[in-house]
Amino acid sequence: MACATLTIDLDAIAANWRALDRMSGEATQTAAVLKADAYGTGLAPVAIALARAGARRFFVALAEEGADLRAALGPGPQISVLSGHMAGDAALIAAADLTPMLNSIDQVTRQFESLPDRPFGVQLDTGMSRLGMAAAEWEAAAPILLAGGPELILSHLACADEPDNPMNAAQLAEFLALTEGTGVPRSFAATGGILLGPEYHFDLTRPGIGLYGARPFADGQAALTLSLPVVQTREIAAGTSVGYGRTWIAATPTRIATVSAGYADGLLRTLSNAALLWHGDRPCPVVGRVSMDLITVDIGHLDDSPDHLDMLGPHQTADDLADAAGTIGYEIMTALSARYARRHVGGGA
Ligand SMILES: *Cc1c(COP(=O)(O)O)cnc(C)c1O
Repeated sequence: MACATLTIDLDAIAANWRALDRMSGEATQTAAVLKADAYGTGLAPVAIALARAGARRFFVALAEEGADLRAALGPGPQISVLSGHMAGDAALIAAADLTPMLNSIDQVTRQFESLPDRPFGVQLDTGMSRLGMAAAEWEAAAPILLAGGPELILSHLACADEPDNPMNAAQLAEFLALTEGTGVPRSFAATGGILLGPEYHFDLTRPGIGLYGARPFADGQAALTLSLPVVQTREIAAGTSVGYGRTWIAATPTRIATVSAGYADGLLRTLSNAALLWHGDRPCPVVGRVSMDLITVDIGHLDDSPDHLDMLGPHQTADDLADAAGTIGYEIMTALSARYARRHVGGGA
């Protein structure tokens, strides 16, 4: 089998959720954000493990993701949709019992016309200029929205991973000004906001990336192992080039292992001549360019010929790969290939 194996430690994910939950007070609930197939790790098994750990509220980006999540969780837990109520979504929202976070007057109209008795929340823009109603819109729509009994008012921080950025306090002041006195439960913090401290926590926090022990949750447990099968091993002489464009040439005789995964699997081409793979505790450098389905690795220093090499594991996290590739852990995780065989371990209780 040339298909790589992505092992997801559900106990580590549950432990990270509990640790993030403990960072806020008793009065603050902790949700889980499972958009993009639970950041590439597998929506249904991760959702079930988190529900067992105690999570009762979940967020996704799209109504379609919400329907998949409802199928995994069954009735009961609240599933909120961050993109709100898009045209054509009414039947899905009702059938899967989803709670759209309304982002604009258009979405409010759509919700109140097509699903007048269904639960909803409201998203406010306090500085991202991405989703949610701006202050003026909110002012105009607040009377009718508040009369409809929103379940939640939420907003999102632009710079939560930079604790010293004055934008955090500015957004907090704006969120307080827009929501004080409404009596509606409020949510402001994702992973980064949880770490900023209690004044950011409000009634509900929404961690996503921290569930996988990735930055900015530095104290989290790493949850992923990615093992790539070795398809072929060859001896090469000094002066031999490896891969497209001859970007690496052996200085001494060595051995090259060709592993089965490439940029089509989310292992970005910028990892060419830059990343490491691991044979147990021993690092092995990527040599030559990452190609679509294959990566070449120098294993000349190993005594044996491994049948697989690890791209993610205890010695190299998604953040480490992101640093090597010039991106962020979020992008590495959400690009994890659909081709990988996902193996979920733990999560029993
Ligand atoms: C993605 C997202 C989250 C989760 O953010 P993390 O940084 O992954 O914890 C929370 N809220 C909103 C609105 C989001 O878009």
